[in-house]
Amino acid sequence: MARRNKIYEGKAKILYEGPEPGTIVQYFKDDATAFNAQKKDVIEGKGVLNNRLSEFFMTGLNQIGVPTHFIRRLNMREQLVRACEIIPLEIIVRNFAAGSMSKRLGIEEGTQLPRPIVEYCFKNDELGDPLVTEEHIAAFGWASQQDMDDILSLALRVNDYMSGLMYGVGIKLIDFKIEIGRVYENDYPRLIVADEISPDSCRLWDIETGQKLDKDVFRRDLGSLTDAYSEVARRLGVIPKTANVIKPTLIN
Ligand code: C5P
Repeated sequence: MARRNKIYEGKAKILYEGPEPGTIVQYFKDDATAFNAQKKDVIEGKGVLNNRLSEFFMTGLNQIGVPTHFIRRLNMREQLVRACEIIPLEIIVRNFAAGSMSKRLGIEEGTQLPRPIVEYCFKNDELGDPLVTEEHIAAFGWASQQDMDDILSLALRVNDYMSGLMYGVGIKLIDFKIEIGRVYENDYPRLIVADEISPDSCRLWDIETGQKLDKDVFRRDLGSLTDAYSEVARRLGVIPKTANVIKPTLIN
């Protein structure tokens, strides 16, 4: 395979220059990290599952008119995406209390929130992605007021889509994180959903049993992460119902 220019290597993905201008190849690694990379492991097959699941969610969003960076999957671990300027915010939408919100506000995990709550964190690993308000975002120029209106609308549309999809396969969407990128179309800026949507960035609980089917399985040592992600993929029809853990193919 021709050598490619690596643009960026993150905790779970590598970005390479794409074949055409304005495109990027997004490679999903098997590395799992939690607590700002204080806990690390390599989980065989995770990258393959997340590549397939992110493809599935982003394709659905594109089809219902929520623009995303996803163009097409290239192979087991890679997808072609649109290059965009990432807005330096992590956008979190919560339907039920869990994780850092439960800790911060003393609300029991699993408590249904009166309405979806959207939070913003400043994307900065050194600072541990601190929670920020729209005041900080405006004052430091991370996004304009128009951007913030568009981000809120995109986040809530993703939430409705993902909640409904998951509900249909017996899973509660507790919360999730997305990232938003800016692209230019005929010189006009437009915001799109970028990065990934996968069980790495969502909390997913079985409706009947409350079993966790997301990265908390790794964060909290609750069992096999690939079993949990495979279960999500199987229920959504992304991998065959009879498939065991998907066998990864290493592509470098
Ligand atoms: O940790 P916290 O409760 O704030 O996480 C909320 C949601 O955002 C969870 O679904 C978590 O997986 C996701 N998240 C993420 N990346 C981060 C922080 C949170 O995907 N850096």
